[in-house]
Amino acid sequence: MAVAAGVAASGFAVPALASVDARGARKLGFKHLHTGETLDIAYWENGAYVPGALSQVNHVLRDWRTGDVHVIEPKLLDLLTALQARLERSERFDVICGYRSPATNAMLHERSAEVATHSLHMVGQAIDIHLPGVELASLRDAAMGLGLGGVGYYPESDFVHVDIGRVRHWGGA
Ligand SMILES: [Zn+2]
Repeated sequence: MAVAAGVAASGFAVPALASVDARGARKLGFKHLHTGETLDIAYWENGAYVPGALSQVNHVLRDWRTGDVHVIEPKLLDLLTALQARLERSERFDVICGYRSPATNAMLHERSAEVATHSLHMVGQAIDIHLPGVELASLRDAAMGLGLGGVGYYPESDFVHVDIGRVRHWGGA
């Protein structure tokens, strides 16, 4: 993978991307399906993460049930940027779940054994998404192909979980 020297200081080496412009800005868009809120933002510019942009990301990816806001790890954003590049897409990600507070996670765990007690959603390192116009299985395959973290496939709920934890995968075939 060819990596520009100035980019290597980030969490992940992000390859040449459609969503990285000539100045090296990294842009992402989100639409949170539970709140209806959207955000289109350059979260990395001139060789560094943009604190104000990260704050806006934290807000839009907050726990929609409780309103709790938590830091979303910038590395997770780099993973999403790499995922879009691999798929050659630039649409907003549809977000099903970003940050999840301990209270919400405990409630969901009660309802479903599929919800981990120590979910990476609780530390801002995981997100449940789909991408308009991309088959869910293709999104999963692209995420697995990155090898940057965990990938969960939930076709019955129409989302893919990605995180920056250990490389592993579950769900579906
Ligand atoms: Zn998840």
